[in-house]
Amino acid sequence: MAHSITVVGCGVIGLTSAVCLQESGFNATIITRDLPPHLTSAVAGAYWYGGELATHPSRHRWSSASLQEYLRLAKGDYCGVTTFRMLEVFGSPVSDPWFKDVIPFYERVASADLPAGYADGYWMEIPIVETPRYLAYLMDRFQQNGGVIQQRTIADLSELAAEHPLIVNSTGVYARYVAHDEQVYPLRGQVIKVEAPHVHDAFMDDDSFTYILPRRDGCVLGGISQKDNWNLNVDPAVSEDILQRCEKALPGIRQSPIIVQLVGLRPGRHEVRLEREQLTNNCTVIHNYGHGGIGFTLSWGCAADVVNLARELTAQ
Ligand SMILES: Cc1cc2nc3c(=O)[nH]c(=O)nc-3n(C[C@H](O)[C@H](O)[C@H](O)COP(=O)(O)OP(=O)(O)OC[C@H]3O[C@@H](n4cnc5c(N)ncnc54)[C@H](O)[C@@H]3O)c2cc1C
Repeated sequence: MAHSITVVGCGVIGLTSAVCLQESGFNATIITRDLPPHLTSAVAGAYWYGGELATHPSRHRWSSASLQEYLRLAKGDYCGVTTFRMLEVFGSPVSDPWFKDVIPFYERVASADLPAGYADGYWMEIPIVETPRYLAYLMDRFQQNGGVIQQRTIADLSELAAEHPLIVNSTGVYARYVAHDEQVYPLRGQVIKVEAPHVHDAFMDDDSFTYILPRRDGCVLGGISQKDNWNLNVDPAVSEDILQRCEKALPGIRQSPIIVQLVGLRPGRHEVRLEREQLTNNCTVIHNYGHGGIGFTLSWGCAADVVNLARELTAQ
């Protein structure tokens, strides 16, 4: 008989974990306060980016596994994942990234071809995720596999212990409360989605954290990362700053009609937490949270490790 497992959280981390568990033979249920698109994961840009923003020793392995999955998804019917070319530029010289040989295309830019004011840069082809569409795809896949989603807010994971012997905690920044982890903090992000179908290539200025990401549902302009800021309202001063930076990178972009402005709280932590914890005699939690600014980049690799931990626990 299939073992039951309860996943708390319906963002990219919870959904990917739940789908991988189901497809490995577990009977998974999701409990969540919010449904997509009303959560951080739906706000993200979101492109695959090598995992360097994480400090965890497994970050390259997790990123590589996710890359393979996104490239596979990009080849099938459209589910929100495509690949695109991005120009990434830097104010000072940089070495090649570790993933240059595993992405579909990588090429350094000759200094004469760099935009004014930059010292280094490269073109790369990487996956990008149209997040609302992709989260809907994951939810659909989970439900088609027979998965049930219960909308419910929990104050503390221990509330579930009596009835749920095996839990995956993927509550993002809210793990600070539900798992009492004071090492988790918000890295507030804000983006502006504009109508700019003429933009085909993406741009990223690493030093000023300015990005332009063309997606099918609009072009995403960012970014900002504000530590310990829980404010979920759009800050007009941040929007103006983003527009000014993007205009400098791509003159004319700020004239594009605005579709929507969004705010999301990245789950910051010194390191991703992916490990098991014995909550009570009868309940074990597999924590999977704290992915900061690269939850999409790490999601499939982390979900595979969740499955391995769940298998170990149910084999005992
Ligand atoms: C502006 C921005 C740009 C980004 N760009 C990128 C990018 O380009 N590439 C990339 O890889 N990543 C990017 N990220 C990071 C990425 O979005 C996050 O790492 C990821 O979304 C975290 O996912 P999560 O599932 O852990 O959290 P969330 O999406 O926040 O989901 C948490 C889930 O837990 C549930 N929950 C919380 N508390 C409770 C409770 N008390 N009871 C029940 N349920 C609860 C919520 O309802 C929700 O379902 C970006 C993020 C932002 C904000």
